Amino acid sequence: MGDLALEMEKSVTYLTPLLEIALKKLTDEFNQFIADPIEVEKLSLLLNDFAGRETALYEAKNLSKLYNGKIYLKREDLVHGGAHKLNNAIAQCSLAKYMGIKNVIAETGAGQHGVATAMACANLKLSLQVFQGEIDVQRQQLNATRMKLFGAQLIPVTDGSKKLKEAVNAAMRYWVANYQDHFYCLGSIVGPHPYPFIVRYFQKIIGIETKKQILEKTSLLPSAIFACVGGGSNAAGIFSPFINEQSVQLIGCEAAGAASLTQGTMGVLHGMETFILQTEERQIAETHSISAGLDYPAVGPWLAGLKQENRLQTLAISDEECIQSVKELALEEGILCALESAHAVAGAKKYLAKNPGKTIVICLSGRGDKDLDTISNFRKKSECI
Ligand SMILES: *Cc1c(COP(=O)(O)O)cnc(C)c1O
Repeated sequence: MGDLALEMEKSVTYLTPLLEIALKKLTDEFNQFIADPIEVEKLSLLLNDFAGRETALYEAKNLSKLYNGKIYLKREDLVHGGAHKLNNAIAQCSLAKYMGIKNVIAETGAGQHGVATAMACANLKLSLQVFQGEIDVQRQQLNATRMKLFGAQLIPVTDGSKKLKEAVNAAMRYWVANYQDHFYCLGSIVGPHPYPFIVRYFQKIIGIETKKQILEKTSLLPSAIFACVGGGSNAAGIFSPFINEQSVQLIGCEAAGAASLTQGTMGVLHGMETFILQTEERQIAETHSISAGLDYPAVGPWLAGLKQENRLQTLAISDEECIQSVKELALEEGILCALESAHAVAGAKKYLAKNPGKTIVICLSGRGDKDLDTISNFRKKSECI
């Protein structure tokens, strides 16, 4: 199981020879890094004492009553910075340091990966340049301010639609020209091999902890695990250790307006072959989601492979369903989750309506403080109608 998924993850297309050299070097150094007991120990200390692991697996008793199941929340919202992204950023930046590289670059959409990488670089004393679409810089002022406080240099990207897709292109172009002394810290399980593999490897800690915790608490594996899917890193992180547990359903919850697993077709973007939302003329389609973190027209090839093998099921969640779940979780449990994570909560609600009483785990990928404006504006908009 997962063979096709692994093959998909490694399919590399559309690469310039220079990029291939850079990726080969990265692969070799990564393999040495994860086999080095001293480095592994240093990283584990950072994950514990800087990032705040392990995160709790919380039994949400009130939400369980409302949704008619037994719900456990994997609390990645409690990771330093407010989301799972630091797991990957601190690990990749540690790898950069191990490689003797002092300059890091990163792309960011809403700014969450930029902030996580900026925190990691400040901590490890590395310099950082963050590529962000000009439109995203303007609408995510809070994160821009944060990144600057952590010492990062922000580079607004003015090509095309001036959003995440162009920011990734700009970061890759810059990296190809400067890979000798720059490390590219990529934010999700996307891009050319080995990036999807590396990011999944570093996010797997979510699932490893979850498996241990759920067995301690219930002595059983859950019936299903839910995670939201943007590029797919929190989903791949929590799913990975359960891939061979056939009794556990894996359910990826996408934004209805950016549902590349549910509606995408095979294509090539950002050096990977995967499901992409594209028009009949094979142009990348415009996506929409209320949550910036899910607003990406493609998905990690590993998840695309699992979907093709029928190991992964998907649910598409509307903006309304997302907002409703944010509010229900807040009212029932006193937890304000990110809009992204609320897609997984909404997916679980749908599942439990059809499968009452089941024990399930939801990956709560991040906290919702960053989304307060969006949540209150959404309410006003719907009240006007
Ligand atoms: C960035 C982000 C996501 C989406 O990224 P994945 O790679 O799909 O995990 C989900 N949740 C939060 C809180 C995020 O910040």
